[in-house]
Amino acid sequence: MFRQIEEARLSDVHLKYDEASGLKAVIAIHSTRRGPALGGCRIIPYSSTEDAVTDAIRLAESMSYKAALAGLDLGGGKSVIMEPEGPYDREELFRAFGQFIEELGGRYITAMDSGSKVSDMDIIASQTQHVSCTSSSGNPAPSTALGVYKGIQAVLKAEPAFDSSLKDMRVAVQGLGNVGYALCQLLHQDGARLIVTDIDEEKVQQCVEELGATAVSAEEIYSVPCDIFSPCGLGGILNEDTIDELQCNAVAGSANNQLLTPHCGHLLYEKGILYAPDYLINAGGLIFVAMTHQGKSQNEINHRINAIEETLLKVFRHELLHRTPSSLVADHMAETQLYGE
Ligand code: NAD
Repeated sequence: MFRQIEEARLSDVHLKYDEASGLKAVIAIHSTRRGPALGGCRIIPYSSTEDAVTDAIRLAESMSYKAALAGLDLGGGKSVIMEPEGPYDREELFRAFGQFIEELGGRYITAMDSGSKVSDMDIIASQTQHVSCTSSSGNPAPSTALGVYKGIQAVLKAEPAFDSSLKDMRVAVQGLGNVGYALCQLLHQDGARLIVTDIDEEKVQQCVEELGATAVSAEEIYSVPCDIFSPCGLGGILNEDTIDELQCNAVAGSANNQLLTPHCGHLLYEKGILYAPDYLINAGGLIFVAMTHQGKSQNEINHRINAIEETLLKVFRHELLHRTPSSLVADHMAETQLYGE
């Protein structure tokens, strides 16, 4: 465990067992150098404590990178709750988890993640103020979509094959959930031609009817000729096979952890596809959550989300200048902010 902590340059890891509620939780704090560590709470079944700790450590590190590149006064952290196997009292579990967060005195602020809901955040809020994404804070997805839209503006400026306008640009969107659909609406307003897929037929149908999109199957989305491929569904979808299929000039979408392995960033680069690093282009949601928690105005929040465009342009300029894949450039920029030169 200490080797993992050392490799991820983590600050600290906290484990909690609460007998009364059955809570088994891990909070991993990657860094508090720039401010308190913010990151979601995942609640899923884990087969072992080691798996839970590994997950928390890995996720905390990427939150630090995301917050640093978004220019937020925050560090990165993540918590995981090992979901009990048998029946359990969810309210009691999250109340105990709220107390756990409170004991850390504000070093860690929690938020929603896989498996957790707004109602869980409300229960945590009864025990501690170090929680976001409660029913009074609002949905981050429109902000994430806005950030991706701004990121796509950077892609238009950086890719020589593109005009500066989205008019008639073919954008293939994978996943029409909270973020994907909101993004489609923004792109449609600018006259983009949408090509879409989702495993949920109803969402596809709605996008076809309301936004004039062309529907393709879940498999076809990789090989369909387009200008920009926008993954907004699952992570890990860019692997050797799918990258081989791509017929686009750029990849720019909201999904987390799009590259199956770091090597996939090189593959995209070698294929001449401009890649907008996921944790940079999808930071709008984090910006919304963090700044809402800090009591900032919508204007200030939008200003920060708009800055994603400029940061991304900086990454693309470095990519060109140093002939280094954008994924590596972004990591390096985040590391410089976190640890210095
Ligand atoms: P969501 O669950 O609302 O939407 C995901 C959509 O993808 C669903 O409609 C689902 O049916 C579809 N989907 C799943 N598997 C698919 C497949 N194989 N092919 C096509 N479609 C598929 O999630 P969301 O909140 O819209 O988030 C989308 C992505 O963006 C996720 O990877 C998420 O981690 C990431 N993200 C979201 C936010 C946010 O603010 N919600 C912030 C940052 C990153």
